[in-house]
Amino acid sequence: MNMPEVDLTQLPALEGHVAGTHPLSARSAASGLSGLTRSVVGYAPDSLWEIETARLPSALQALRRKARAFAERTLAPRALEVDALAHWPVGATPAPLASLLEEAGRAGWLTDMLPWPLGSAPLGEYRHPLVLRACLKVEEFSRVCGGQMLLLCAHTLGIAPILLTGNPNTIRRFVLPAFRALQRGEPHLFAFAITEPGAGSDVEDGMGAAQLQPGVVASRVDGGWQLNGRKCFISGGDLAQSLTVFAALEGEGMASWTCFLVNRDMPGFRPVRTELKMGMRASGAAELEFDQVFVPDSHVLGGLRKGWSLNRETLNLSRTPVAAMAVGFAQAATDIAADFACRTQLGGKALVHYQDVQLTLAQMMAETSAIRALVWQSAKTWAPRQGTASMAKFHATDVAMRVIALAQDLLGNHALLHANRLEKVYRDCRLTQIFEGTNQINRLSVVEDFQETLLARAAG
Ligand SMILES: Cc1cc2nc3c(=O)[nH]c(=O)nc-3n(C[C@H](O)[C@H](O)[C@H](O)COP(=O)(O)OP(=O)(O)OC[C@H]3O[C@@H](n4cnc5c(N)ncnc54)[C@H](O)[C@@H]3O)c2cc1C
Repeated sequence: MNMPEVDLTQLPALEGHVAGTHPLSARSAASGLSGLTRSVVGYAPDSLWEIETARLPSALQALRRKARAFAERTLAPRALEVDALAHWPVGATPAPLASLLEEAGRAGWLTDMLPWPLGSAPLGEYRHPLVLRACLKVEEFSRVCGGQMLLLCAHTLGIAPILLTGNPNTIRRFVLPAFRALQRGEPHLFAFAITEPGAGSDVEDGMGAAQLQPGVVASRVDGGWQLNGRKCFISGGDLAQSLTVFAALEGEGMASWTCFLVNRDMPGFRPVRTELKMGMRASGAAELEFDQVFVPDSHVLGGLRKGWSLNRETLNLSRTPVAAMAVGFAQAATDIAADFACRTQLGGKALVHYQDVQLTLAQMMAETSAIRALVWQSAKTWAPRQGTASMAKFHATDVAMRVIALAQDLLGNHALLHANRLEKVYRDCRLTQIFEGTNQINRLSVVEDFQETLLARAAG
């Protein structure tokens, strides 16, 4: 096919700028250099997304592109519909979500915590830290739909304590059969259950936990343990076939916390209800009842009284991906604002020609890019640390809310319309400041992690 000839010198410029083809433009300046220099300084009119993707190792570039393609193809068409669905009965899976889970399972998005052939991560990709890979995926999914992202990604949180036992037999026994089912397109989600009606922050913070009277308690019985109590706000707890549930041993405090693998069909286990909540509405936040649930000894994960360690390490793994959710929301807000500015006319010209609008867009791009850099930096390790993960979590989620506010100001009353997606981005992102520890608790986690250095200064 013949492409029409484009006279680049005739391409318009935004008001206040020279065109890309003008002799004084950044692109012309670069092209005026020698071939050797051009290979170093390089200038191509790529999007920021392409520039940042190109800076990743090739296996991660492929992962990022694959995640964006899946999000656009599979999550985007359902996003507004599933957000507006009437609150469905606990345990039911609305048709668009059932098909999402099937497609995501077949595509390998629910089994990518392990390398192929155990899971679905290609070996080249698996060489890179789990958290970094999770962040790339989570950002792209969040950019398109926070609710579907949480439905898919809370599953990783549920599996994390099993992987963190580091016991190949435990992983083989509990994870691999579920992975086979998921890859066939059958549902087998995991959920992570620490929060209790009387304990949100207190199960995420050592000081609070030290004084907590645990609500879910395991009593010793023949051949295993009997669980009693309630958990609440458990993402995907209504649909999960397997749950990593944390309970204190009877008569002991939080130092006895133990992680139990509870299956949905164990008698006495019941998802009671899901919350009708502000955002991420495609993912159920479930209250769970444990009424004399018998859990065999073989379902104790990592050993008795190892629960607190598994919990803390799971949170260290998962808080940077929560920061990545915020990056996805900030990117969505930036994209929506840029699109609006280009399509909306004011005073006979597109909004994007006004310099105050350009300044706002530049600020949004810079803030989003900066929190992405923070996330990638925090994620580049196989051994995540509490202080750096919490720092990324509270800072990225707070900055993302400011970026969204800039977009809301730019869109005016159009920001409030469901069809424009920005009000959903706002509602979805607000949750990230609260779950995985409120941002106040995450600030305290940073200080707790680095307290030795502070104490040394205080002493010295
Ligand atoms: C959508 C959603 C999904 C969730 N998914 C899960 C899940 O999958 N699994 C799970 O186990 N939990 C989950 N949660 C629970 C979540 O992690 C908790 O809600 C969160 O940790 C906050 O706890 P809380 O709401 O009980 O706040 P509270 O602990 O009641 O805190 C109330 C206020 O007190 C402040 N505060 C508490 N302690 C201190 C302190 N020491 N110093 C200063 N301020 C303090 C807090 O910052 C907050 O402002 C989810 C929650 C939501 C909203």
